[in-house]
Amino acid sequence: ETFEGLGVIAPICEACKNLKFKKPTPIQQQAIPVALEGRDVIGLAQTGSGKTAAFAIPILQALWERPQPLFACVLAPTRELAYQISEQFEALGSVIGLRCAVIVGGMDMMSQAVALGKKPHVIVATPGRLMDHLEHTKGFSLRGLKYLVMDEADRLLDMDFGPIIDSLLLHIPRERRTLLFSATMTSKVEKLQRASLANPVRVAV
Ligand code: AMP
Repeated sequence: ETFEGLGVIAPICEACKNLKFKKPTPIQQQAIPVALEGRDVIGLAQTGSGKTAAFAIPILQALWERPQPLFACVLAPTRELAYQISEQFEALGSVIGLRCAVIVGGMDMMSQAVALGKKPHVIVATPGRLMDHLEHTKGFSLRGLKYLVMDEADRLLDMDFGPIIDSLLLHIPRERRTLLFSATMTSKVEKLQRASLANPVRVAV
């Protein structure tokens, strides 16, 4: 199997080659084609499986086809994970001119507001700080968002981000694609899935 064979466009295949991704990992083989078809995806996969690229690649491809600011938002449970996700997006997306912003707690609100004002294509955020910006940063909204990712959903919910995610969903259009990744399928994850995904395809490794 190759990235080309999954339907990935040449510039992104080139970026994979530059990152020494010789072939897609199992979660990428399963998730990329269904996400490229525009389906919602639930991915059951651990860290280290290549799950980040499994959601980043289809989002970057959709963005390349229809470039738009504030195109996708990725929710992550921790700052460290948010930075790792953003690094992966930037590594894969620099070939298509990607602008990515990390919006996490413990950093200066003003400089983040400036970063959001530059209209990044992708925001990688922890839920609480993203909510702060939706409530307090003038001119910032997610009304045009096309893709929402919830990464490590089991950890997001264990950290009690559930109520904040429910509030965030009220700021995000219903007509969007949603990709949810989790290491485990818990009853809380199932509830979030029912509240936020439409007719999803489940993939697991
Ligand atoms: P993740 O599971 O997303 O945290 O990814 C784990 C590591 O695997 C990251 O350092 C990625 O850069 C790397 N990786 C992702 N996809 C591939 C691939 N197809 N081939 C080789 N390495 C990969």
